[in-house]
Amino acid sequence: MKKNLFGLTLADLERELLPLPKFRAKQIAAHIYKHAVKNFDAMNDLPKNLRTELSSRFEIKIADLLKRLDSRDGLTTKFLLGLAGGAAVEIVLMRHDYGNSVCISSQVGCQMGCAFCASTLKGFERNLTAAEMLGEIFFAEEIFRGEGKKLDSVVVMGTGEPLMNFDELIKMLRLLHEDYCLGMSYRKITISTCGLVPAIKKLRDEKIPVTLSISLHAPDDKLRCALMPINSAFGLKSLLAAGDDYAQSTGRRVTYEYILIGGVNDTEEHARRLAKILSGQLANVNLIPFNPVDEKNFRPPTNNAVKKFFHFLNTHGIGATIRKEMGADVNAACGQLRAKILV
Ligand code: SAH
Repeated sequence: MKKNLFGLTLADLERELLPLPKFRAKQIAAHIYKHAVKNFDAMNDLPKNLRTELSSRFEIKIADLLKRLDSRDGLTTKFLLGLAGGAAVEIVLMRHDYGNSVCISSQVGCQMGCAFCASTLKGFERNLTAAEMLGEIFFAEEIFRGEGKKLDSVVVMGTGEPLMNFDELIKMLRLLHEDYCLGMSYRKITISTCGLVPAIKKLRDEKIPVTLSISLHAPDDKLRCALMPINSAFGLKSLLAAGDDYAQSTGRRVTYEYILIGGVNDTEEHARRLAKILSGQLANVNLIPFNPVDEKNFRPPTNNAVKKFFHFLNTHGIGATIRKEMGADVNAACGQLRAKILV
């Protein structure tokens, strides 16, 4: 088995390539991360015999393309990617008028058990490595580059709970930010969590000002416990305090995601309670009309309920946006493609 060099930091590369001098590691890092070179033979600033030796010992591998689905409007593309050991994860590319983004997965499957989410349908397999998460981003970057576009932002909002895979996540974010890699600003990165309070504090202590997005979905503990098992461990009060603390410490506004599910959490009374618990927070609410999942017994809200909910929040001091529906025709809700294909 050849060792994969993709996803190594410069320091790791230097160590791996010993006794080669450090400048060789720098050259190779530039090929891998700046020029998306996958083949040592193409590294023409390296001596020929070194290229041959490297090819015999190492490889540069991201992921295998298993399936591609393009939305009819061409704005959203979903990929199912194959990883080592037969695992498959999904990424979603979104082309907005304000920039291009990719939504990546952090785990194979998910163990958080949210009642409305397709990611839990096949259970939890394993965490992704930093290299695999970076690979998802590079895969997207190459697709965008092929279209003459640029990757502007990254959201960790696909399958899995990123804060359950904390160390690899942080390693990936730090590498992504390095100048020799994509040099991506932390402000262009969003981490979405179902609400692991201790890990939110740990993230704050990392002092990397990524945008934090908290999946709230309910304005009281009773309903939130019914929808999201994590709420039994960390209730709303401690979650909102952690969100507030994150916003104060980083100066970054926290986004609260709120899926509107027809007849479950979408009435004016829910909006009133939501506005109350968020009042005074440096926060935005992102309303997401529920994306139907065959296996789940929930329905989307009516257009009228969405409009009313949105209007209520905005007229009661809470900045809210409605997530533009993208890619419903490519099963863009979390875990839907993977759940459908891996039958
Ligand atoms: N575990 C993280 C990130 C993955 S989920 C988290 O919970 O935030 C990303 C977002 O998509 C979450 O807000 C999640 O609740 C939401 N989501 C899951 N299933 C959905 C569906 N069927 N329709 C709309 N949004 C969904």
